[in-house]
Amino acid sequence: MPRHAIVAGGSIGGLFAANLLCRAGWEVTVLERSDIELSGRGAGIVTHDILNRLIRATGATTDDLGVAVQERVVFDRSGAVVARRDLPQVVTSWDRVHSLLRAQVPHGSYRLGVNVTGYDDHGDSVSVRIDGQPGPEADLLVGADGFRSAVRAQMLPEVQPVYSGYVVWRALAHEADLSEAVRSEVFPHFGLYLPTGTQIVGYPIAGPGNDLRPGHRRYNFVWYVPVPEGDLADMLTDADGHRHAISIPPPRVRPDVIRAGVALAERMLPPPFVEVLGKSEMPFFTPIYDHLAPRYWHGRVALSGDAASVARPHVGMGVTKAACDAEALARHLDGAAAVPEALAAYSAERQPAGALARQVARDLGAMIFQAPDGGNSDGRNNPNLATIVSETAVVPPPLAVV
Ligand SMILES: Cc1cc2nc3c(=O)[nH]c(=O)nc-3n(C[C@H](O)[C@H](O)[C@H](O)COP(=O)(O)OP(=O)(O)OC[C@H]3O[C@@H](n4cnc5c(N)ncnc54)[C@H](O)[C@@H]3O)c2cc1C
Repeated sequence: MPRHAIVAGGSIGGLFAANLLCRAGWEVTVLERSDIELSGRGAGIVTHDILNRLIRATGATTDDLGVAVQERVVFDRSGAVVARRDLPQVVTSWDRVHSLLRAQVPHGSYRLGVNVTGYDDHGDSVSVRIDGQPGPEADLLVGADGFRSAVRAQMLPEVQPVYSGYVVWRALAHEADLSEAVRSEVFPHFGLYLPTGTQIVGYPIAGPGNDLRPGHRRYNFVWYVPVPEGDLADMLTDADGHRHAISIPPPRVRPDVIRAGVALAERMLPPPFVEVLGKSEMPFFTPIYDHLAPRYWHGRVALSGDAASVARPHVGMGVTKAACDAEALARHLDGAAAVPEALAAYSAERQPAGALARQVARDLGAMIFQAPDGGNSDGRNNPNLATIVSETAVVPPPLAVV
């Protein structure tokens, strides 16, 4: 009899876990809280060789995965080029990766609108609680329910996300809407702007419907801005006066908060990036947090992806880390006689990887604020330019091998 796993969370981490466990002979049920299919998040995702390999391991194709970017280009405050470096990468979107993985999940094993609120580990099985009520039973529960995981909250209530002191503003502009100068000088590259105190990363991704044709793509704008915790509370309060904890759904961000963000951009950023922002659909912000579970398991319950650890986005590892967690989980469980022992081995392998990713990302984040003698207000004199250019959205070498 195949053993049965329940995966809480049907985003990218949950889909990797479900698909790779299926391939290791498990029967899988995915329980996703959202009552509609997840889509339209629009976020850009930098891919890596290891991620491509694991997408293919689920049975999905990586043909037409995204836009090939050849070069990293650093701009100064005026929009002039400060530095260039060859670094070929394919950049895709959250939607693209999600839909590829979603199509691989066996029919009938993905359930929407199911809110997993906890679990009961019975020793020889584990059952989930759904909206506080007893739910289905299985041999294994995977908590892939994101960085505010209910599964982790029960297993390790002391683990709390830590605010970095800055937020990221994100926006997408259609290639066709950009001026000829921005389309030719900024759009094709992985672009950076690196003055002290703020940072921009931008790159092209596919257009809606994974449209990769020139003229139909979009530019993914990512802007890190410091926000003291007191001001963050106001930014997280919506027009109805409701204060959202930790982060706010994009449609709930107040128009005056967006206007203030755009006005700040106009004062601080190089003209090409101001143009991108001005031509973007509704920009939104996300406060940057990280966290790290000290272990990724207990009994018959495993944590994976953002539920297990979050590194700040500078390393561009969230999706890749979730894929690697899922690969290790399925490998340790493949043919394992005892689930808890397999989960202990999984945790021993992956928790240090989560710790390393979090540290590299913290180090990159700290570089935003390091001020050299003589200042770096125009982005021409960043003391860490070479490190930022070569390590941003690049898998740290010890983690690059499966
Ligand atoms: C600005 C920015 C840029 C980024 N850039 C990159 C990048 O370039 N490359 C990269 O790899 N990553 C990047 N990331 C990170 C990446 O988006 C995430 O790390 C990745 O999606 C993690 O997936 P996950 O499935 O573990 O968690 P999530 O995507 O958070 O999914 C959790 C899922 O669980 C569901 N859920 C939550 N609670 C429950 C519950 N109680 N019951 C049932 N379901 C539940 C949620 O609805 C959701 O679908 C970036 C993130 C940010 C903010």
